[in-house]
Amino acid sequence: MNVSRWECTTLPHPLQPDSNSCGVFAIKFVEKVLMGQQPVFPAGPKDVEMLRWQISVILLEASDDLTSICCICGHEEVDDSQDNKTIIWISCDVCAKWFHHACLGCPDTSSTFTCEAC
Ligand SMILES: [Zn+2]
Ligand SMILES: [Zn+2]
Repeated sequence: MNVSRWECTTLPHPLQPDSNSCGVFAIKFVEKVLMGQQPVFPAGPKDVEMLRWQISVILLEASDDLTSICCICGHEEVDDSQDNKTIIWISCDVCAKWFHHACLGCPDTSSTFTCEAC
């Protein structure tokens, strides 16, 4: 059966009211489809602001805590063969991010340290 593209229809769905909330709409469409529901939700300007806020909170609450990882290798430990109690960590004096001393190439730790990003 040939179906002309002009004969295709789409599910009823709210229309994006502005030029900067496509992310909110995409996430809500996906959420509704994954839940087996019609892609219908309140989508006025105030509704979109509330959805944006709700999505932000959900993403932040689901994020991993990255404060205890090395900012070069992305791990807490160096590798299994080393005694992780003796790993030396140093922090950037500017941004306060932490790094394995070894991942930085073992720089002199007697002076201040500033990471490459700072
Ligand atoms: Zn590291
Ligand atoms: Zn830094």
